[in-house]
Amino acid sequence: MAGEDIAARAQKLRELIAYHSWRYYVLDDPEISDDAYDALVRELEQIERDHPELVTPDSPTQRVGAPPSEQFAPVRHAQRMYSLDNAMDESELLAWLARVSPEVGPDARYVCELKIDGSSIALTYEDGVLVRGATRGDGTVGEDVTANVRTIKTVPLRLIGPGAGATVEVRGEVFMPKESFARLNEAQEAAGLPVFANPRNAAAGSVRQKDPAVTASRDLDTFMYQVVDPDRFGLRSQHEALEWLRASGFKVNPDVTVCSSADEVVAYCREALQRRHDLPYEIDGVVVKVDDFAKQAELGFTAKAPRWAIAYKFPPEERTTKLLDIRVSVGRTGALTPYAVFEPVRVAGSTIARATLHNAEEIARKGVMIGDTIVVRKAGDVIPEVVGPIVELRDGTERPFVMPDRCPSCGSPVWKPEGEVVVRCVNAACPAQRLERLIHWASRGAMDIDGMGEEIIRRLVDEGLVTDVSDFYRLTEDVLATLSTGRTKKDGSPVVLGPVVAKKLIAAIEASKRRPLARLLFGLGIRHVGATVAEALAHSFGSLDAIAQASEAELAAVEGVGPVIAASVRAFFGNPENRALVERLKAAGVATCEERPETPGEQPLAGFTFVLTGALSSMTREEASEALKALGAKVTDSVSKKTSFVVVGENPGSKLDKARALGVPIIGEDDLVRMLAAKEPPAS
Ligand code: NAD
Repeated sequence: MAGEDIAARAQKLRELIAYHSWRYYVLDDPEISDDAYDALVRELEQIERDHPELVTPDSPTQRVGAPPSEQFAPVRHAQRMYSLDNAMDESELLAWLARVSPEVGPDARYVCELKIDGSSIALTYEDGVLVRGATRGDGTVGEDVTANVRTIKTVPLRLIGPGAGATVEVRGEVFMPKESFARLNEAQEAAGLPVFANPRNAAAGSVRQKDPAVTASRDLDTFMYQVVDPDRFGLRSQHEALEWLRASGFKVNPDVTVCSSADEVVAYCREALQRRHDLPYEIDGVVVKVDDFAKQAELGFTAKAPRWAIAYKFPPEERTTKLLDIRVSVGRTGALTPYAVFEPVRVAGSTIARATLHNAEEIARKGVMIGDTIVVRKAGDVIPEVVGPIVELRDGTERPFVMPDRCPSCGSPVWKPEGEVVVRCVNAACPAQRLERLIHWASRGAMDIDGMGEEIIRRLVDEGLVTDVSDFYRLTEDVLATLSTGRTKKDGSPVVLGPVVAKKLIAAIEASKRRPLARLLFGLGIRHVGATVAEALAHSFGSLDAIAQASEAELAAVEGVGPVIAASVRAFFGNPENRALVERLKAAGVATCEERPETPGEQPLAGFTFVLTGALSSMTREEASEALKALGAKVTDSVSKKTSFVVVGENPGSKLDKARALGVPIIGEDDLVRMLAAKEPPAS
C-alpha cells in the first residue's frame, strides 16, 4: 500500500474502532463480534508499529475502554484501572514469558487465573463497610454504581476475617452466569425488549442501570482478584492477595494455579481452553500474572496495561481477512458454485483460505465485493463461512462479482432454470463435471474405493486412462504402479505410485464391485437421487435393470420419490450413453442386483428405525448401517420421535442431545454388536 493509502486506512480503522467501542462500552450493545473487533485493533496496531508517525494521541490503541456516561456520577480512581495486553496465541504467550523471565529471575512464579468475560468493578470499603462501587470507565474516571453493586449477593457489605474494619479498595469482575444470561434474554424477548449480544454485555448493562431494582433482578455474580495497595496488609504476592480476599468474604475464582515454568503456564492455558465450555460462566482466556509484588513493581506499566501480566486469549472463532477473489467451481451435476478465496487466516485452530458462497443470490444477500475486508468463521466449528464484509473499510477499489455466462471449465453457455437459484453447465462432456462424477463414484458414501482420492483420479484423467466410471474397472496393477503422481524426484525423474499402492488400489476397486445396489445407484450421480432416494429405489425394484425399465409412474409410486425425481431417473436411463455405461459396468463384473434375504424371517429388525452418531471402534458407521439394513432396519440421519434407537459411539454429535430431549432409547456399540450377532432388537 502507498503511504497515503496506509494513512487513510489507519484513519478509517480509528474511526471504526471508536464507533464500535462506543457501542460496546457505552451502549452495551455491540454490532460486531469481539474477534472481529480485535482483528481491527490488531491491524491498526500493526500499522502503528510499522509507521510510528501515524500514531495519534486519540488512537484507540492508546487508551482503555470509554469515557464514563453522564448518567452516573463520575468517580476518579485513586489508582488507574488498567486493561491487559493480549497474547493471541501460544507463541505470543511464550514471547511474553521470555521477555519477563530475565527480570523476575530463575525462581519466578506466575499465577494463572481464568479470564472472566465480564466487566471490571472497583469496590471501596471504609472501616470494613462497602461505601462505593465503580466501573472502570476510561481507566482514570469511572462511573459510580454503588447502589447497583449493593444488590449483588456475592459482594460483601461488611468485610470479615483479615479485612474486618479495613479501609481498602479491591477490584475484580462482575459477570452473568451463562444460565442467567439465557433466562434474561428469554425474558427480554418475551417482553419484546432487545436481547443482549453476550453475557459480558449483559453484565455491563445490568451494572449500569438507572434503577438498582433492575440490577437486583439480573442475577449477577462476582470474582475479585486484586487488592489495591496490598503492602498495607502485609501481602507480598498475588496468591497471598487472593487468599486474603477469600478470607475477607469475597468470592474468588477457585481455578487458580501458581506455576513455576513456561511449560506449566502453557499446560494451564490448554486445559482452560478444553474446559471452557463446561464452566457455568464465560471465559475468554487466561490471565497470567507475575506472582511477586516486588517484581511486579519493577516491571511497571505501559500507558494501557501492566507489563507484569498478560491475557492469553483463546483462538478466535471469527477473524477478518481480505477477500482476494470470488471463483466458480463446477460440480458433478454441472452446478456452478461461487467460492471465496481470501488471505489465509487461522480460525478456531486451523488455517482457512476458501469458503463456499453457494450462489449469486447469497453473494448479493451478504453484500460482499472482491477486495473487501470480510469477517470469516467456521460454522459449527468446521465449515469455513464468510459472515459478511466490513463495508466501512472500502476504499473504492472493490468490485462486484458477476456470475459467468459460460462454464469456467468447458466454455459452454450456462443455463439457469426458471425459479432456481443455481446456474448450470449442461454440457454432459464438461471435463470439470466428469472429474467430479468420478470423484463421487469412488467416495465413501458411494462405491467407496479406498485410496482412490481426488489427486489420483485427476492424474488418471490427465493421462487419458479414465473417462467414465466403468474405466476404473479396466485399470491394472501395472498401469497404476507406473502412474505419475505429478511430483518429481531431486534428479528430475517422476515419482510414481509404485507397486504397493497399486496393489491396494486394485483390491479396493475389486471390493467396490460388490457394493449394495443403493450405493451404485447413488454413485451414478443421477440428479435428485441422493443416498435416501437410492435406498428406496433399490429396495423397491431390486435391480438396476428393473429401475432402468420402470416407467415414470412406477418410479413415482415409490415412497419418497416424487414426480421430479421420477422424471430425472427416466431421463437418465433414457439416454443411450448412460445405458451403454450400465452395460459396461455389468460386463466389468459390478453387481447390479440387490441381494435380498431369503425369507422375511431374516428381517428381525423390520419396523425399527436407527440413527447412528459418533465413531464406532469395531466397524465404520457405513458398515453398521449396512448390517442393520440387512436385518430389515431403517437407518436415518436425523432423530425424531419415530426413531427406535440411537446408537452412540465416541464423540457423539448433537443427535445424542436430541435423543435425550425426545426420550429416544440410547444404546452403545456393545449393544449394537450383540444385537447384530443375535439378530434381534435390544430390549428397550
Ligand atoms: P480485556 O477484556 O481484553 O482484558 C482486560 C480485562 O480483563 C480487565 O479489565 C478485567 O476486567 C478483565 N479480567 C477478567 N478476568 C481477570 C483476571 N483474572 N485478572 C485480571 N483481569 C481480568 O480488555 P478490555 O479493555 O476490557 O476490553 C477489550 C475487549 O472488549 C476485547 O475482547 C474486545 O474484543 C472487546 N470489545 C469488543 C467490541 C465489539 O464491538 N465487539 C468493542 C470494544 C471492545
